[in-house]
Amino acid sequence: MSMSGTDARREGFVTTSTRGLRHDLPPMRLYHKAKRFGVWDPRAIDFRRDREDWQVLNDEQRDALLRLVSLFSAGEESVTLDLLPLIMVIAREGRLEEEMYLTTFLWEEAKHTEFFRRFLDEVAETTADLHHYHTPSYKKIFYEELPRAMNRLLTDPSPAAQAEAAVTYNLIVEGVLAETGYYAFYQTLHRQGLMPGLIEGIRNLQRDESRHIAYGVFLLSRLVAEDDSIWNVIDRRLNYLLPYALGVTHEIYAAYGNNHPFNVDQQEFVNYAIKQFSLRAERIEQARGKSLAEIYRLATLDVEEPGEPAPSGAAGAAGQSAAPGGEAESGGPGEGGTAA
Ligand code: FE
Ligand code: FE
Repeated sequence: MSMSGTDARREGFVTTSTRGLRHDLPPMRLYHKAKRFGVWDPRAIDFRRDREDWQVLNDEQRDALLRLVSLFSAGEESVTLDLLPLIMVIAREGRLEEEMYLTTFLWEEAKHTEFFRRFLDEVAETTADLHHYHTPSYKKIFYEELPRAMNRLLTDPSPAAQAEAAVTYNLIVEGVLAETGYYAFYQTLHRQGLMPGLIEGIRNLQRDESRHIAYGVFLLSRLVAEDDSIWNVIDRRLNYLLPYALGVTHEIYAAYGNNHPFNVDQQEFVNYAIKQFSLRAERIEQARGKSLAEIYRLATLDVEEPGEPAPSGAAGAAGQSAAPGGEAESGGPGEGGTAA
């Protein structure tokens, strides 16, 4: 395949070949799920109660909430800006189903960015510069490691570079930092019955993010199944970034003399963050020595969460009716890259 430079040309197309679209592939299932659950509108969330609640917070509580929202707002902005190189790599490899899912991924990150800025505009009603909330560990991840790992893909699309990018983006930023952050919103505001609009948005966001993380786990598992040496790249990258991810929580507490204005225990967050980290790492390590067909089967189990309806109907029918073990029988080395 030649998809770079002026000599780019195609040999054919997936959708006009006998292969057609593979609705049973895990990314395609995520795509169908995103069409159903990812369509919430940040502007439709009612912030009236939140504006009242803002008035009764004391100065330190307002500062703590502004801090958390500023970390999320900049974080969502950076994942919106930095995702494109990964989408480019996946598209160039001709993985149509994966790219179709990634179109929803990018749109969702844009909405998350919109949501937190809307909170700053309409609830906190601030136009202040909030960069001083970005402490050294946060800066290390969002100002340096994330943009570097993602933009490296523009010149180095190797499996190792893809693995480092996905570890940084999906496992550390989304899997550890964002999830610990949601937990912080629930433990501070929801526990005290405050900011129902913000909490409603966070719930929508978290549901979107569970799809993003599922894609990242799928991608990393696929890379490990294709080349076992990638596991060492992942393991090294995870352990390099983990101290900075934990450092973000530590620095939040340090800013308030280790007495958080919403009275939440720091150790609770550290434990939660480490648990998230271990779960993902173990999950990807399971991909070692497995075939791509097994990876697709495991990833499909991740997508079909209990309690949420599967992407059924005509679109998902091919995948739904197949036995779990038989879904990815054509998942050979050329899987996804056959058309271009
Ligand atoms: Fe997001
Ligand atoms: Fe995300």
